[in-house]
Amino acid sequence: MPTTTPLLQIENLTTSFQTNDSAVQAVRGVSLHVNHAEILAIVGESGCGKSVTALSILRLIPIPPGRFESGEIKFNNQDLLNLSEADMQKVRGNDISMIFQEPMTSLNPIFTIGDQIGEAIIQHQNTTKGETRKQTLELLYKVSIASPEIRIDQYPHELSGGMKQRVMIAIAIACRPSLLIADEPTTALDVTIQAQILNLLSSLKQESEMSILLITHNLGIVAQFADRVTVMYSGKIVEEASVDSLFESPMHPYTRGLLNSLPKEDNKSKLESIPGSVPHPAYLPQGCAFHPRCKDAMPRCQKQPPLSNLKKESTHKVACWLYEECVKEVR
Ligand code: SF4
Repeated sequence: MPTTTPLLQIENLTTSFQTNDSAVQAVRGVSLHVNHAEILAIVGESGCGKSVTALSILRLIPIPPGRFESGEIKFNNQDLLNLSEADMQKVRGNDISMIFQEPMTSLNPIFTIGDQIGEAIIQHQNTTKGETRKQTLELLYKVSIASPEIRIDQYPHELSGGMKQRVMIAIAIACRPSLLIADEPTTALDVTIQAQILNLLSSLKQESEMSILLITHNLGIVAQFADRVTVMYSGKIVEEASVDSLFESPMHPYTRGLLNSLPKEDNKSKLESIPGSVPHPAYLPQGCAFHPRCKDAMPRCQKQPPLSNLKKESTHKVACWLYEECVKEVR
């Protein structure tokens, strides 16, 4: 029976890294949720905290220098930040898996792909050699690798980039996780292969009701594949909405800037870029972190950060002084 409790619920997560001088917050008070069988995209430029958020979920942040300053990460109602390392190890791969943007460096060059997928199966299930090989072949079929009987005994260097990413997906889904975190899964691939990989993820989600947390800087990918979207800037969530609502009525100036930088349908209009770049987390400007790049900035924006996750309505949230809802909250 479908449940309304989110599969993953992050509340007020702050993740920092100790440097020689101070603790630098890469993720600052992030709250988000992923529902069962949905694709939630986190978008933003490099350095906005997307990947640190993902690595925090799996507790793959090196501690020290990393530290979880505050927050909770509830997955199936257990707080991952309070689990022992042994229990967390069971969650990784069994319940939550991750695929990274660089399949070339994620696979071990000295083992066959069959060995590497098989290892993921054996780690979490007590299967015999024959059963492991059978399941490995099934997974290769599932991720649409042609001639799996041949490919299973090949080494990573014998596969194309797209095939390597399919192998990474096979490893990630080997134990049927309920949540797959895909961190820029297609960045290193050409456009045609990108679409194939994203279609594959989408159909795996349909088949198995798996949820996907898709991390990307590409709003075009979000429009095609995600159900909901969260926009991050300088370690904070600045806007959250369904994909339809975000594309129809983007509210935050940063989101509007990202959308304006997408190629237009007529392919003739000039692409607009957002001036400047994401500030280093150690040198955040006062007030709204986006104000030095924002053409709508007001004097107030330089002094006071807008509250996070303020509501326009229950499903479309924005944190920006342009909106009456944000102003009302602090009155
Ligand atoms: Fe721009 Fe001010 Fe909104 Fe920040 S709070 S995005 S500076 S208008």
